[in-house]
Amino acid sequence: MDKEIEQQEEILHTQHADPEEVLEDVAFYRTLAANVCMIGKPDGEWVLVDTSIGRYSTRIIAAVEKRFGHNPPKAIILTHGHFDHAGSAKDLAKHWDIPIYIHAEELAYVTGEKGYPPADPTVGGGLLSLISTVFPKEPVNLKGLVFTLPDDGQIPLLNDWKYVHTPGHTPGHICLYREKDKTLITGDAVVTEKPESSLAVFLPIQKIHGPPSYLTQDWDKAEQSVKKLAQLEPNLVISGHGLPMDGETLREQLDDLATNFYSKSIPKHRKN
Ligand SMILES: [Zn+2]
Ligand SMILES: [Zn+2]
Repeated sequence: MDKEIEQQEEILHTQHADPEEVLEDVAFYRTLAANVCMIGKPDGEWVLVDTSIGRYSTRIIAAVEKRFGHNPPKAIILTHGHFDHAGSAKDLAKHWDIPIYIHAEELAYVTGEKGYPPADPTVGGGLLSLISTVFPKEPVNLKGLVFTLPDDGQIPLLNDWKYVHTPGHTPGHICLYREKDKTLITGDAVVTEKPESSLAVFLPIQKIHGPPSYLTQDWDKAEQSVKKLAQLEPNLVISGHGLPMDGETLREQLDDLATNFYSKSIPKHRKN
């Protein structure tokens, strides 16, 4: 199984070795697991958002150096603590000697005090399930490196961004939002590909989906969070899984998901 993942990583890496610029101060780096975002201009102060699974630190450092040269990030912000977003956080924070920030309600899950509920085996499948069987041998533990975000929505080092608390997928999940150009980084609150599909990561299809069903904890809260995001009427979404989306198509699909969340997102065999 490991070999299969390595092969898929190689194929993906040949297509997406570099960070892809979306705006002059926003780029993302595609991995076999979650996207890594980079907020800030190449010659200024900047932060990294999410860190993929635990084997990606070398590739992320290489991608960062391609865009930023020897200008490392000032902090890592985690949208939530799942292994496919927080997996390389420890190695990267140590490498650059920088802090990690996470929402207060997520902190206990990345300091060894609480564990996420086991993944729901009745939903999902595909690549995420495949990865999850191989990698999270132990939960992510960032004790000593991780700090809580302020509770007023501010994000350290990012003056024109705020975070939006979007619980449901996990209790302390956040999205990052910039009002002035309506740019939204959604983590897993909504995604633009289905990580349950083993081929999705290779296909240039963009469609707004609810949170990955495989690991979502509270569907009622997830629905409220999607409604909150739809009300922002974003111009551009960069999600944790999939390619960026923008404009009218994005807003229409997000509205549609917010209105029909139960029929579109929730697995038929939900257990929570
Ligand atoms: Zn997640
Ligand atoms: Zn994810």
